[in-house]
Amino acid sequence: MATEVVCPTNVLESALHQLDEVAALVNLDPAVHLKLSKPKRAVAVSIPTHMDDGSTEVFVGFRVQHNMDRGPCKGGIRYHPCVTMDEVTALAMWMTWKCAVVDIPYGGAKGGVICDPAQMSERELQNLTRRFVYELVEVIGPDRDIPAPDVNTNERTMGWLMDTYSMQYGYSIPAVVTGKPVCIGGSLGRAQATGRGIVYVTREALKTLDMPIEGATVAVQGFGKVGGAFAELIAPLGAKVQAVSDVSGGVFCGDGLDIFALQRHVAETGYVRGFPGGEEIANEDLLALDCDVLVPAALENVFTAENAESVRAKLIVEGANGPTTPEAHDIFVDRGIFVVPDILANAGGVTVSYFEWCQGIQKLFWSEEEVNRRLERVMVGAYHQVYERSLSLGTDMRNAAMAVAVERVAEAITARGIHP
Ligand code: NAD
Repeated sequence: MATEVVCPTNVLESALHQLDEVAALVNLDPAVHLKLSKPKRAVAVSIPTHMDDGSTEVFVGFRVQHNMDRGPCKGGIRYHPCVTMDEVTALAMWMTWKCAVVDIPYGGAKGGVICDPAQMSERELQNLTRRFVYELVEVIGPDRDIPAPDVNTNERTMGWLMDTYSMQYGYSIPAVVTGKPVCIGGSLGRAQATGRGIVYVTREALKTLDMPIEGATVAVQGFGKVGGAFAELIAPLGAKVQAVSDVSGGVFCGDGLDIFALQRHVAETGYVRGFPGGEEIANEDLLALDCDVLVPAALENVFTAENAESVRAKLIVEGANGPTTPEAHDIFVDRGIFVVPDILANAGGVTVSYFEWCQGIQKLFWSEEEVNRRLERVMVGAYHQVYERSLSLGTDMRNAAMAVAVERVAEAITARGIHP
């Protein structure tokens, strides 16, 4: 069912290019620039795993901690055939900026394992996860580095992670991971938090552009934890979600897809393709759809020099990390397409992860309304700080978000100094 996987390349180059751009824009201290261009720690491990047929497979996994100056590292774990050390390093760097842009006391990290979960049983995935965590016991921890879900990992994976880590110490340590099931210390509202945060910033960006949300036409690439929640939450606000795609292909309905029926179809078949409430649409056509809002929520390098000219959306809100190459970014700026960058747009996930960590440490849990209310305050506040910065610097939203983030991290580095 799945389409051929084309792995994103040069993702780290894109991340470093963004850093260089903002360093020039804000006159960043060269020593701080140099420090931020390298991860603090990068670990590669082999993961021997018992497979169902009795064989042993050895997978390769990575954990990269980019920066810890503002607090412990934070970042998801991805299971995907395209995972590389460079990709994980770029994602860790983006996590540093993301935590800083919403001003939560974390640095950035990311993890990944080169594997294809679609080809693995639940037991094999559990074996892989447990051994991966075991290999990282010295590196992660509630005050060191706190993983979370990312592409192809979920609550269940985080439950295994928490259990494996806790087993090494002999008592439950829920704050080592976020995005875990609510019954073992997860936060209400975490599952939809990234999508909900994207809804809040989409709403604010539409106000900036003087476009009503009621009747706004929307296309979403990727219908997983992020894209699925976003589509589900934006539709009741009156937006028309016309097209949605996943790795299997896409569906389109001019009058707006019935997102709840689509969710049921995906729950039954595993994929978007074949949904009877819409016609098929190719991924490239979805990206070029004449719509108001386009939300990439799959992988990196979706918008490139090759296809950026064909994008017709007025507003792009980056649900995925790194969906826009630097060349595509320049094209969007030239064409006046308003882009809410990933480090701001999808920061709702890490924000509620932070809430989950705080609740876990205090052993005091909040209602879902309380979580959502606090999330809205953080996302809306961050959106307007970045927008104001874009006006004062005379730059686009990506550079402005980077400026806000990098200056906060630089301030922490300067306050701490370099050891020894
Ligand atoms: P997921 O595994 O739940 O969903 C990924 C979705 O993308 C799936 O629907 C998959 O079929 C689809 N997809 C994969 N390749 C595709 C392709 N070539 N074309 C179209 N669709 C494709 O992952 P997720 O957690 O939703 O993450 C999606 C993106 O959001 C990633 O970039 C991730 O780093 C980012 N992100 C996730 C979170 C989070 O809380 N999960 C937070 C911030 C950012």
